[in-house]
Amino acid sequence: MRNYLKHFINGEWVESTGSKTVDVINPATEEVIGRISDGTMEDLNKAVAAARAAFPSFSQTSKEERIELLNRIADEYEKRKNDIVEVVTEELGSPITISEKTHYNMGLAHFRQAAKELESFEFTERRGGALIRKEPIGVSGLITPWNFPTNQTSTKLASAFAAGCTVVLKPSELTPFAAIILAEIFQAADLPKGVFNLVNGTGEVVGNGISSHPDIDFVSFTGSGAVGQKISENAAKTIKKVALELGGKSPLVILDDFDMKKAAQIAISNVVFNSGQVCVAATRTLVPKSKHDEFIEAVKEILPNIPYGDPQDKRNIFGPLVSEKQYNRVQGYIKKGIEEGATLVSGGPGKPEGLEKGYFVKPTVFTNVKNDMVIAQEEIFGPVMSILTYEDIDEAIEIANDTVYGLAGYVVGEDKEKVVKVASSIRAGHITINNAPMEMSAPFGGYKQSGVGREWGSYGIEEYLEVKSIVGMPS
Ligand code: NAD
Repeated sequence: MRNYLKHFINGEWVESTGSKTVDVINPATEEVIGRISDGTMEDLNKAVAAARAAFPSFSQTSKEERIELLNRIADEYEKRKNDIVEVVTEELGSPITISEKTHYNMGLAHFRQAAKELESFEFTERRGGALIRKEPIGVSGLITPWNFPTNQTSTKLASAFAAGCTVVLKPSELTPFAAIILAEIFQAADLPKGVFNLVNGTGEVVGNGISSHPDIDFVSFTGSGAVGQKISENAAKTIKKVALELGGKSPLVILDDFDMKKAAQIAISNVVFNSGQVCVAATRTLVPKSKHDEFIEAVKEILPNIPYGDPQDKRNIFGPLVSEKQYNRVQGYIKKGIEEGATLVSGGPGKPEGLEKGYFVKPTVFTNVKNDMVIAQEEIFGPVMSILTYEDIDEAIEIANDTVYGLAGYVVGEDKEKVVKVASSIRAGHITINNAPMEMSAPFGGYKQSGVGREWGSYGIEEYLEVKSIVGMPS
């Protein structure tokens, strides 16, 4: 049992002022694997006060000191590889190979990348008679979801530290243990006390407390649109800057000159990755009408060979959903798709055979989906693909953009001109052509209802900075 009942405040592990706790469940076994404290406003106030007290000195550290600090953190992070892989596998249900390849590595990459970005980052510039200075925004409140417990926290923390900000983090109560390890890493890396504070607990108390706290200058949130809206409303009362990384319903446009087997492979792997619990998941698959049957045949051939199940089994590509709530949500959407008249190609309601324990769902593919159906418009956050057909490239672009979201988009094709046309026409913050690998220095964030602001690399650092103009500065 992992019982982590203390918060990390002002460089120390401290008891919660409350007595309530939150159970943490392993989604593959449905067993309680540990507990955290259900933090109180008093806990949060202490953490904010510590971050506020640490700000004057940390904000004045040099770029070189912060590069050194970020690299020290990355070194300590590397030493905790096994613990991180183990904990993410347990709390999220991510297969062990993905916990290492994706979750562990992405967390690490953000600290290394922030250090690298700082080397060439200019905090001052001259414009005519003015000196422009970029200064840390202040105490930052960070609220993160459960689907990438190391990536979401690390991208925010690395950018905040690079900018010279102090922070209070509230990770998701469903996957809180990875953040406990991060706190231990910061301790080992000698992060000055008060720079990083961790308060565990629920969104209703600690989360709401952060977004409305008068002593927090900036809130960076990743999670659902509904909570993002609430945070913006709360933050407006003290005119707090807010960055929001929200949901998506991203299109994958398959051009007619692309190999349909390769396309099906890419489409499936993008939908099942992390059990579909990915904000940039390519869940609307746009196939040329003329290639529909060929594409469906390829899907039917590939899908049964995708191994999933026990996260401890190295062969598995994806595991269970994170919680019973998430399981019920995804089941609801699968039933909705059937009711709406979409055609089930594979999967469907209920648990897969042999995986009755744990929050496992069948990878599910619907075709004959119309873009006004709920399964084409709402974020399901599970391994469910909706296939839509198009006549020509203009129609594909129109369908791709017919959504309230704008987080990501994907295109696969051979004709360069057409590929570029689609990539440029999708109104979203992150486009991937022909399954290209991720670029850690490129900005990440959404258009439309997918969010406000950008994370990753130098754009991520910019979010944590205020811009000051000084005119008449003696040279
Ligand atoms: P969620 O919004 O329910 O919770 C996210 C975090 O907010 C958790 O820490 C939760 O405790 C906290 N929270 C809940 N209520 C709150 C409140 N009233 N005030 C402040 N904080 C509150 O989201 P989730 O279910 O954990 O994550 C899934 C969602 O996150 C999906 O919609 C997904 O698309 C989105 N997401 C977006 C990105 C991105 O980068 N755009 C990345 C990952 C997840």
